[in-house]
Amino acid sequence: MLRFWFSIPLWQRVIGALILGVALGLFWGPEAEAIKWIGDFFIASIKMLVVPLIFFSLVSGVTSIGNLKKLGSVGGRALLFFLVTSQLAVWLGLVLGTVFAPGVGLDQSRIEMGDIPEPKTEGWREMILSIVPQSPVQVMADANVLPLIVFALLIGIGILMAKEEGQPLIRVFDAGSIVMQKITIVVMELTPFGVFALMAWVAGTFGVDALLALAKLVALNYAGCLILIGVVYVGILKFMAKVPVGDFFRGMIDALAVAYSTASSSATLPVTLRCLQRNIGVSPSVSSFTASLGATINMDGTAMYLGLATVFGAQIFGVQLDMVDYLMVAITATLGSIGAAGIPGTGLIMMTLVFGTVGVPLETIAFVAGVDRLMDMMRTVTNVTSDSTVATAVAASLDELDREELVSHDDV
Ligand code: ASP
Repeated sequence: MLRFWFSIPLWQRVIGALILGVALGLFWGPEAEAIKWIGDFFIASIKMLVVPLIFFSLVSGVTSIGNLKKLGSVGGRALLFFLVTSQLAVWLGLVLGTVFAPGVGLDQSRIEMGDIPEPKTEGWREMILSIVPQSPVQVMADANVLPLIVFALLIGIGILMAKEEGQPLIRVFDAGSIVMQKITIVVMELTPFGVFALMAWVAGTFGVDALLALAKLVALNYAGCLILIGVVYVGILKFMAKVPVGDFFRGMIDALAVAYSTASSSATLPVTLRCLQRNIGVSPSVSSFTASLGATINMDGTAMYLGLATVFGAQIFGVQLDMVDYLMVAITATLGSIGAAGIPGTGLIMMTLVFGTVGVPLETIAFVAGVDRLMDMMRTVTNVTSDSTVATAVAASLDELDREELVSHDDV
């Protein structure tokens, strides 16, 4: 029995679990919440890996890149990709919302109103300050990824500057990184169970009535995400990174299933890194830097949704948006996504920032909160696909991509 279980590749077990979970949830209904704890157990287990994995693999990655110039070009290229794709995403959301008008003629009586999160009022000064790892231990305890990345980068740079005297630490961080990867393999064996339970919970607890009332918005959220994946990322993979797209998605499938079921790109990060390194062939240095950074600052699915939701809210409450408002949305959505963590429901919190700048009432959030999880899942898949695409493209441009690994189909 056990041998049979392990003879099936993990990604097939995960996809099977996802389908069975949805089936069970639809059949069982809200009672399916009884097994959600299995999903929470899984999420807690992968979250456990995030901080030590980023820390060890990033320091080890920086030291293996070996020189600051190359490190700069990895960072520069990644940031450029992040910026361009995020902009495309917000504008796509704005266009979809304007053309298909999901907020016009809405039957408001069928919608279950949700809570409005505390408005986010952080200015750019606070945002810059929050990147400083004031207390590295605190940063780790809070799993605050952005300052953690800065701290790991600085340690890596310090080791390089120390030259000979820094050598022992290089070995420590290399070993730590390998150990964390081994633990990741063990924890990933929980994926089918976690995905199964989370999908059963989502499928069982969703109010179909509320979903139907907001069907147009939900459909546009999915369509926008699929356009980003099918056009923008496939385009980058095919024409810039020159990698076989089918093999890429096959290699990333575990990460995408975990993203879909957990709705958190930060929690998915250990699986994303594993897939990128093991199945796609992106070097540990480029993948750990680009994907960790991307998990917090690059959220294209979220950016697209913010554009869409702003137009949706404006339509419900009759707010006129002009070109300057659209521009403001594009800027605030991009800035907001930099500071926001990749956790479930981030999109809702960021709405408080974006809506505030163009005068769309915050009550719009109450309209969408009830069905947000379902949209969040797809946004998270998009966010993770974007991070992985950028990591692959950056690796390809710097000759840090092992193309044989990508087509070997020797997946975990
Ligand atoms: N949950 C998403 C993520 O973790 C962010 C969002 O709410 O859109 O990437």
